[in-house]
Amino acid sequence: MVQVLDTIAASRAAIAERRSRGTIGFVPTMGALHEGHASLIRRARSESGTVVVSIFVNPLQFDRPDDLNRYPRSLEADLEVCRRHDVDIVFAPAVSEMYPRPMEMSVKVGKLADHLCGRFRPGHFEGVASVVLKLFEIVQPDTAYFGEKDAQQLAVVRRLTTDFNVPVRIAPVPTVREPDGLALSSRNLRLSPGERQLAPRLFAALQRAAASVQEGAANAAEIARDAATVIPGDERLRLEYLALVDPEDFQPVTTVTAPVIAAGALWVGSTRLIDNVRCTPPMKDGPPEGGHYK
Ligand code: AMP
Repeated sequence: MVQVLDTIAASRAAIAERRSRGTIGFVPTMGALHEGHASLIRRARSESGTVVVSIFVNPLQFDRPDDLNRYPRSLEADLEVCRRHDVDIVFAPAVSEMYPRPMEMSVKVGKLADHLCGRFRPGHFEGVASVVLKLFEIVQPDTAYFGEKDAQQLAVVRRLTTDFNVPVRIAPVPTVREPDGLALSSRNLRLSPGERQLAPRLFAALQRAAASVQEGAANAAEIARDAATVIPGDERLRLEYLALVDPEDFQPVTTVTAPVIAAGALWVGSTRLIDNVRCTPPMKDGPPEGGHYK
C-alpha cells in the first residue's frame, strides 16, 4: 500500500518509522511519470527496503513562467504508476509546503552550470540544487536515483553531495528511449503529432557525433557542426546548442582525446527537448592495420 503524503512532517515521520526495516531509496521527480521514471523506481525497488518518490514541480528551477504553467501534471495517473511499482511513500507537497515564504538562501552552482542548459536557463541549476538539498534533508535517503538523460543535472547533484558532505549515494540510471530513439520526457506530451515525428532528430544528431568520435574525429567544433546537419531545416525546429563537453566538469572540449558527452537542446515548436550521448574515441594503442594484439 502506497502512503501518499503532502506534508514534510508526515513524510519525515513515515520514513523514520521505516528506517529500521532497511535502506531508503529515493526517486525525486516532477511527476507526469513515464517509463523513464519507472526505470528509476524499479532500480530503487530492487535495491532498497523502502522506496520514496517525490512529485513536485519546483518553481525555483523554471526560468520561463509559460514552461512552469504548461508543465504537465497528472497526480492520479502518477499514483497509479507508483502503486504498480510497489512504491512505499509518495511525497507530493504543495508549493506552499516547500516554500512557505520566499527562500532567502540558495545553492550557488559554479562552473558546472556555465555551459549547456546552465547557460541558456539562468538560475535553473541553482533551483535544482536548492530543491534537491531540501528534499535530501526531508527524506534523508541512503541512495537517490537520477537519470542520465539529465546528465548536467546528475553532475550538479553529485557535486552537491560531495561539496556539502551530504551522506547520500547518487545512483545514475541509463536513459530510456522510445523505439525511434526519442528520450522519454514529460515534455514529450506537449508535442503535436507532426512535432513528435521531428523530435527524434536530436538523438540522431548526437548519435552522429558519437559515430564521428568513434571513427577517430577529434576536432570538437567540426564534429558538432557535422552532427547539427542531421537536424532538418524546418521552421518548427531550432537547435539551441549541440556541444561536446567533459563528462566530469561539463566544460567544452576542443580536441577529443578521451570519452566526452555530446549534449544538445532542440526546440520543437514551443517545447524544448534535451538529450545527450556518451562518445568514446577509438583505443589509442590499437593493433596496427590488419594486425593483432599479442
Ligand atoms: P523529471 O520528472 O523530469 O524531473 O525527472 C525525474 C528524474 O527522472 C530525473 O532524475 C530524470 O533524469 C529522470 N528521467 C527523466 N526522463 C528519463 C528517461 N527518459 N530515462 C531515464 N531517466 C529519466
